[in-house]
Amino acid sequence: MPNRPFRTSSEWTVLRILQWANGYLKKREIESPRAAAEILLAHALGTDRVYLYMHHDQPLEKPELALFKTFIQRRLQGEPVAYIVGHKGFWSLDLRVTPAVLIPRPETERLVEAALAWLAGRVSEPAADIMDLGTGSGAVVLAMAAEAGGHRLVASDVSPEAITIARRNAVAAGVAGRVRFFVGDWLRALRRGPIFDLIVSNPPYVATDEWLRLQPEIVRYEPRLALDGDADGLRCYRAIIETAHQHLKPGGALMMEIGCSQREAVRRIAEGSGGYEAFSCVKDYGGHDRVVTMQKKNIASIYKDC
Ligand code: GLN
Repeated sequence: MPNRPFRTSSEWTVLRILQWANGYLKKREIESPRAAAEILLAHALGTDRVYLYMHHDQPLEKPELALFKTFIQRRLQGEPVAYIVGHKGFWSLDLRVTPAVLIPRPETERLVEAALAWLAGRVSEPAADIMDLGTGSGAVVLAMAAEAGGHRLVASDVSPEAITIARRNAVAAGVAGRVRFFVGDWLRALRRGPIFDLIVSNPPYVATDEWLRLQPEIVRYEPRLALDGDADGLRCYRAIIETAHQHLKPGGALMMEIGCSQREAVRRIAEGSGGYEAFSCVKDYGGHDRVVTMQKKNIASIYKDC
């Protein structure tokens, strides 16, 4: 039989192409090669990963094969899988993502868990007023809306593109009526006044020189605006902590995701502001400090300090 350098496309079945792509990505040290191959192939076929498992023997059509190869090339250039396919799973949601928003990270689900636990532990009226600052794709606020009905949710971001995406995600998640979005720089757009029970945020917290050392795919593709927390990584904590307490009702709390070495620095900022008490921190499932909570200082303890 003559040697054929290329297979005809009909010989590429789902299983064979997955095995090929897995090996190819692995050799080039792309992380999670198998998952990447499956997500990209499912996207090229307009289907999902479960379908692939059930159709291992399905031959690929030429255009499908060609499309899949362009996805593999893009991944090899460093483009994150989530941007290639345009969506990313977070909590129970499938969120649309573009390079205008940070790709939601699994650690951030810890912020959602902590916020839901805080809400569940409240003894006052059940419906809370909640604000998500720097919402990006809407991940945190939409997970909360999907999980805990009955609350009044507001979310802002300084990027109008991000707010457009977050709004679309709210519609897709079926919670559009439950979250109000607006463009704004932290709390600056709001009049001061105690209107929220809970303020949550996953602000940019990577120090600038650390940002430069992140994986090239993050630096080249993800929005710097959503990651870079200035020289020491703490600029956004200062901005939020300084004003958030003026927007919290008595008994309210501010809850934020932090970088794993920032707990004490953020605690000092909170103490220095004079607006909070009962600072606490929980770890993520990797064992790293991840979510800080601070209660608005109650009026009795403010007088005690005087
Ligand atoms: N966890 C992100 C990262 O280092 C940072 C997210 C953020 O700055 N809020 O990849």
